[in-house]
Amino acid sequence: MRIVDIRESTVPLASGMRNAKIDFRAMTASAVVIVSDLRRDGRNLVGLAFDSIGRYGHGGLLRERFIPRLLAAAPDDYADRFGTNIDPFKVWDIVMRGEKPGGHGERSGAVGLIDAAIWDLVAKIEEKPLWRVLADRFRGGSVETRVPAYASGGHYRPDGDLAALADEIRRSRELGYRRVKIKIGGAPLSEDLRRIETVLDAVGSGDDLAVDCNGTFSREQAIRYVTALEPYKLAWIEEPVEPLDYELHRELRAMMATPLATGENIFSAPDLRNLLRHAGLHREHDLLQMDVSLSYGIVEYLAMLALVEEHGWSRRRCLPHAGHLLSFHVVAGLGLGGHESAPDANSIFGGYPEGMSVADGFVSLPDAVGVGIERKSNLYAVFRDLVAT
Ligand SMILES: [Mg+2]
Repeated sequence: MRIVDIRESTVPLASGMRNAKIDFRAMTASAVVIVSDLRRDGRNLVGLAFDSIGRYGHGGLLRERFIPRLLAAAPDDYADRFGTNIDPFKVWDIVMRGEKPGGHGERSGAVGLIDAAIWDLVAKIEEKPLWRVLADRFRGGSVETRVPAYASGGHYRPDGDLAALADEIRRSRELGYRRVKIKIGGAPLSEDLRRIETVLDAVGSGDDLAVDCNGTFSREQAIRYVTALEPYKLAWIEEPVEPLDYELHRELRAMMATPLATGENIFSAPDLRNLLRHAGLHREHDLLQMDVSLSYGIVEYLAMLALVEEHGWSRRRCLPHAGHLLSFHVVAGLGLGGHESAPDANSIFGGYPEGMSVADGFVSLPDAVGVGIERKSNLYAVFRDLVAT
């Protein structure tokens, strides 16, 4: 089994959405295709991966370092012990050759794309959905038939008003979600409180609403917000402050009853160790949102889960960032707490492929082999030319 080509392209995702920190007009993402020499149905079997959204594409790093390293490796270097499939752990070691420890920066997202495409290929070679491969390898086959998911949205929009926000939330509920998350911190507190109350009118309970501050607040602003939000008894407050200021997390944690969620900008197991050691988070109460794809992929995420459990947390406290399909398979296959879903199936990174359904806040498991990108037509359109080249 040989990897014969790796292709990538940068996909523009221009949109008028905005959170407290960035707008998405110039946003891009990378699509990656790994081509094997195995033939199925008259074509080479391929592994596909699509970026997590929010940190731009990773084309430069892929082209200059990570793709050439993997293409230069001998097939025996990445073969599994039976010689019939690829070993994702060996691939990880190959692409990370020559990389210094620490300073993870953007390379963790580039490596995460290679890792994701490899796992898609591995599952296709086994002719199983990726969730099944992960459950079989790492959980003794155990899996629940329905995966909890919440609808992530409520961005600030150029034409945004409260009626449009309420409409978006109602649409999410009609699609079958119960819990929703909206952005805050990009408007004055009084306006954000109106947004929160508008959504609470639609969902009925604070437990069905989470808010995401995207790391925007100073210490003083965070204290003001956290204090003002306490009476609403929200599901969680996400990234109130700079994600690497653990001392400030500790201070806020001590004054909050509402659960604190963070981790989507922690990109490695060593960084997670620091978060668990120093940020004062409560293992019974708080939530960890490391992004599988931006954190070097599933190989590193497994190391993160081991750390989570070593520190006495349940993996059910993990709600990985990002609404993409890879993350869904990891949540389902590794028994995590739930999937962050971008409910709008019209966006290439939103919704679920054909054959998956949402009801009462849970998503059904797909039966397509691999990650199933081929079954989501607007997302697969991004890959069509890359696959055909
Ligand atoms: Mg977030």
